[in-house]
Amino acid sequence: MPKTPSIAHGLHLDSLLAHGGGGFDAATGAVVPPIQTATTFVRDETYELVNPGHIYSRDDNALFKKTEKLIAALEGGEDSRLFASGMAAVAAVARIVKPGGTLLAQSGIYWGTTLFLRKMCARNNIALVEADASDLQSFQDEIAVTRPDLVWLEVPSNPFLNVADIKNIANQCKQADALLAVDATAATPLILKPLSLGADLVMHSATKALNGHSDLLGGVVTTDNAGSEAWAFLTEERKLAGAVLGSFETWLLLRGLRTLALRVERMNRSAQVFAEHFEKHPKVEAVLYPGVKSHPHHELAKSQMTGGFGSLMSIQVKGNKTAALNVTGALDLFQRATSLGGTESLVEHRFTIEGEGSGIPENLLRLSIGIEHCDDLIADMEQALTAI
Ligand code: PLP
Repeated sequence: MPKTPSIAHGLHLDSLLAHGGGGFDAATGAVVPPIQTATTFVRDETYELVNPGHIYSRDDNALFKKTEKLIAALEGGEDSRLFASGMAAVAAVARIVKPGGTLLAQSGIYWGTTLFLRKMCARNNIALVEADASDLQSFQDEIAVTRPDLVWLEVPSNPFLNVADIKNIANQCKQADALLAVDATAATPLILKPLSLGADLVMHSATKALNGHSDLLGGVVTTDNAGSEAWAFLTEERKLAGAVLGSFETWLLLRGLRTLALRVERMNRSAQVFAEHFEKHPKVEAVLYPGVKSHPHHELAKSQMTGGFGSLMSIQVKGNKTAALNVTGALDLFQRATSLGGTESLVEHRFTIEGEGSGIPENLLRLSIGIEHCDDLIADMEQALTAI
């Protein structure tokens, strides 16, 4: 058998990604795996499975396994599970907390997660505590006092780009016997590895940069301890509750992952240049991006992230809601759409989505920087800002 790329060969993750995790199709020698669409797998005359481990595709299939192995390698983890969407992954992790338990969640994170946690906890008699994780001491105190079963962080947070101190929070969680899960969607595993900082679980909306082409919904959770009780629950939950990724989506995700390193490199570099360009712009009140020195968590971000600070940022324009909406309306290259991490740059007025009382400033525009030429993105925003 010819050798194929693998972590065991001591390769960089970029190389492993370029080969979609390595290996080839044993039946044909094809360098790209086939899409396995079968939902069920046969047994022989003695009722033994023809291919052990393959019974029914809700349980598992070869393409899930290949993609999960690759993502686990990216995270430096032991095992991963794909889910039907990022929210299906969030929900599976949250369900680790049982009625009567306590969940401590970072405040000011992706509103879909907050909304889900609020509803799920209210329905299941789970105490939900929401606290600002940027204030390390008070967040650690909250862990010590509330003794939660699960702590949920989002690093960097969406849309405020706050950066929580994963290592110190993980230490506090260990002392309080709490599980720590980190949604690192806005970072990607190439620049932030929460498991190496002490988190128990890391979660990504694979809909975003992991796939990178805005053409599938997916989620993934990775553990650093495949023998843990929490992992046994999550794998069973995926199988029994059935929030599995479709075969075609899994195949697309694996294809998207092949270019992850290139996309992340370009997007992060452009985001950094873009943020620095607009930081001092006369029509911009603030740029929220952990890569700029003025960001309150810049030093922490630098110590936790390697190779960049992500491609998500928010800018607050000088003016009110109308000014912000005028700027979005004047953009030509940025598409006015929700989501992040795709090849195309997107702009979103989050206040319109989340509304009064959400805490989102009216003048905030969330930007996802894509792979276009950075000069074109800067020129587009420059001309749009003249609309104020
Ligand atoms: N986590 C973060 C940080 C997100 O931004 C999103 C979606 O925007 C999700 C989770 C949910 O992922 P999905 O849309 O794949 O369900």
